[in-house]
Amino acid sequence: MAKQKTAVIIGVTSQDGSYLAELLLSKGYKVVGTLRRTTSMVHENIEHLKGKIILEAADLIDPESLNKVMITHQPDEVYNIASQSVPGDAWTHPFYTGEVTALGPVRVFEAVRHFCPNARVYQATSREILGGVTGVDRANESTPIFANNPYGIAKAYAHMMVDCYRKSYGMFVCAGILFNHESPRRSLHFVTRKISMGVACLKLGIKNPPVNEMGEPLVDAQGKLHLGDLNARRDWGYSKDYVEAMWLMLQQSEPKDYVIGTDTNFSIKDACKAAFDHVGLNWEEHVISNAKLLRPTEITDMRGDYSAAKRDLGWEPKVFMKELMEIMVDSDIEWLKNHQVK
Ligand code: NDP
Repeated sequence: MAKQKTAVIIGVTSQDGSYLAELLLSKGYKVVGTLRRTTSMVHENIEHLKGKIILEAADLIDPESLNKVMITHQPDEVYNIASQSVPGDAWTHPFYTGEVTALGPVRVFEAVRHFCPNARVYQATSREILGGVTGVDRANESTPIFANNPYGIAKAYAHMMVDCYRKSYGMFVCAGILFNHESPRRSLHFVTRKISMGVACLKLGIKNPPVNEMGEPLVDAQGKLHLGDLNARRDWGYSKDYVEAMWLMLQQSEPKDYVIGTDTNFSIKDACKAAFDHVGLNWEEHVISNAKLLRPTEITDMRGDYSAAKRDLGWEPKVFMKELMEIMVDSDIEWLKNHQVK
């Protein structure tokens, strides 16, 4: 019988980390998930996994904690999913973003290099490393890196270190250059979840909605949902689809980086229309653009050309924007009912 494989997921509380843990459990892995040490005992995305996975405390700014996980568990596969992942916060926290999102992955690579050098490593790169690229409709693995915000620049550093560790040490490290992906487990910092939660609140007539990152109600007393640039466009896929691509990358004979996207893109307005239409509301009566939520620089408009992933990994997206927004709205309606939000 084949030996059971062990996977470490750095950042298991994330939307991707939690779906990845489910996928790896279904494939028979022993799953070790790391979370940050906080005073909270509640981790909504992984409550249902407690008891099925091993939890360890580790922080990307604390190399000792990462070393300990590798020494203790001797993983076959390591997925670095964690990062300061909110592009908007990267302008207000540029030092922290650099520490966590740029240098954090290098601490993971070093921990693997010293303590479990045969482990295969996945690094969560973002399409934001291409945020300033113009004149390109469809990005692929050869599109030159040109990041234009602190988050994208931090991710670009980590991404280039992936190739450096492959070439310098012969390690099996690969990066997924992932376009935006969403799910009911997306945090409320991000526009798709704001839309789905806002729609759910309006549909149920909630008087005390959850608050946004400015500490203000997601939907104001006039029934308006505040968003940033409504014309910004994104290639949105489904997190549950994307974690399969991560796993597939680590099953190949050679480590390579892949673009993962849907090869479509839509505006924030399009996503609003899909979500509001789903519950019979008119988005134009409820959505406003709030200048406080605009980014200092927007990323340029591109789709993710996943043809290399399709060819080599047999991977294709299954869920596209409209269905995704509907899944998220339905889930948020259930969430508000289950949490008895009034
Ligand atoms: P989330 O925003 O849901 O989660 C981020 C994770 O990082 C959380 O588990 C968080 O822990 C953890 N984390 C933050 N800071 C630290 C730290 N200092 N040490 C250890 N852990 C930390 O991420 P997603 O699931 O959306 O994305 C997963 C990864 O993919 C991220 O690296 C993200 O940047 C990247 N990415 C995401 C895309 C997307 O559209 N979702 C697109 C491309 C890349 P805690 O729960 O304690 O906050």
